[in-house]
Amino acid sequence: MPGPIDLHTHSSVSDGTETPAELMRAAVAAGLGTVALTDHDSTAGWEEAFEAAAGTALTVIPGMELSTRHGWKSVHLLAYLVNPEDAALHDETLRIREARLTRAEAIVSRLAADFDITWADVVAQTAHGATVGRPHIADALVARGVSLDRSAAFRDILHPKFGYYEPHYAPEPLDAIRLVRAAGGVPVLAHPGTRGIDNVITEENLAALVDAGLFGLEIHHRENTPDAMVRLFEFADRFDLAVTGSSDYHGAGKPNRLGENTTAPEVLERILAEGTGSKPFVG
Ligand code: AMP
Ligand code: FE
Ligand code: FE
Ligand code: ZN
Repeated sequence: MPGPIDLHTHSSVSDGTETPAELMRAAVAAGLGTVALTDHDSTAGWEEAFEAAAGTALTVIPGMELSTRHGWKSVHLLAYLVNPEDAALHDETLRIREARLTRAEAIVSRLAADFDITWADVVAQTAHGATVGRPHIADALVARGVSLDRSAAFRDILHPKFGYYEPHYAPEPLDAIRLVRAAGGVPVLAHPGTRGIDNVITEENLAALVDAGLFGLEIHHRENTPDAMVRLFEFADRFDLAVTGSSDYHGAGKPNRLGENTTAPEVLERILAEGTGSKPFVG
């Protein structure tokens, strides 16, 4: 348990490039004391992560990053210590994963008009049963030699401004927070300041999320802008919300490194006290 605490990472169960076991080994190598596995809309990597952490000094917090949407804005919600067998949560994540699949197919059929890419290319880049996302389409573009790496594919092709983009079904943030709490989990808004201060959630909307059970804000994250972070710290004070920090590691899929941002031990203690749907794995 002693050692840095990183509460946001992705494996190949979603859009990370390392298997859950490889990710746990990377976490040990990075000297982390605690790591949360938070794949998009899936808890399927938990068991493999626990097995890989056995016999190490690593503590694994089982989690997930739920896709939600408010109007046209995609909002990510970290959910720690949920019950993976909760029926409502299970059904909702299944619905989101299925919608992501249909949506990825739609994006690829648009891309196919202009680039040498097929759906089979994307399937080849996606681990069996993984939550599909634009990163897998990016990997297919890289494999075809269209883009240099994931970041270039997002910048030059997959950004909504190029017209290939398609949204997918996702619940409202308010409903997602209620769902996570009902499943015994602890909900934290992921990287809420990535679009700059002018797009930070309004005080009224945040108040509603807090009433629904929001626990905290992931303020220490490389993609939150400095001015947005200042506003978010004010909100954390005003609403008595916990502040977390994490890497959002995706293996080779993003430059983010394990432990580049961390969470205070007292905040982790509170998450452990409030999360009743599952237990941390102590290696
Ligand atoms: P999607 O949920 O399918 O729309 O894809 C969003 C995911 O793409 C996020 O979870 C990130 O992991 C990833 N992503 C977004 N922007 C970039 C980027 N510039 N480089 C690499 N990955 C990115
Ligand atoms: Fe991701
Ligand atoms: Fe995210
Ligand atoms: Zn993430």
